Amino acid sequence: MLDIQKGFPMLTVSKECRFDAAHVLTNHAGHCKNLHGHTYRLIVEVAESAAASDMVMDFKDLKQVLRDVILARFDHAFLYDETSAVECDIAGTIARHDMRRVPLPFRTTAENLARHFFRELAPHVNVLAVHLYETPESCATYRNCRERRASALQ
Ligand SMILES: [Zn+2]
Repeated sequence: MLDIQKGFPMLTVSKECRFDAAHVLTNHAGHCKNLHGHTYRLIVEVAESAAASDMVMDFKDLKQVLRDVILARFDHAFLYDETSAVECDIAGTIARHDMRRVPLPFRTTAENLARHFFRELAPHVNVLAVHLYETPESCATYRNCRERRASALQ
């Protein structure tokens, strides 16, 4: 049986997709306080399940999950923090023009988006990590860290 806590080797597969989206970080001190967009690069790493086989998951199936769960909703959308009055105002204008927008209950930092995508994907695949590149050089990672949690409890 797979035991991440004891450092047993583990097979994983990864799939990458890209999508374009606009966002704004209200009250941010830098340039990101302005409406802007990114071509996000999302890499999802999936771990083998307890039932060992020669395939963690069919790449085609993983691609379809990314299409259904992430791309169908987030590609070419305005991602906004529904707790921000400014961002809701912008979203209202976008809604009046019948353009795609995605309300989220948090600031749309790469870190929060990576965590959100992990949680969205978790019911569909045995996700181990989500890496979200906001730019080619800047990546936020959200991963299942059973090792750290286990050691923190001891
Ligand atoms: Zn940005």
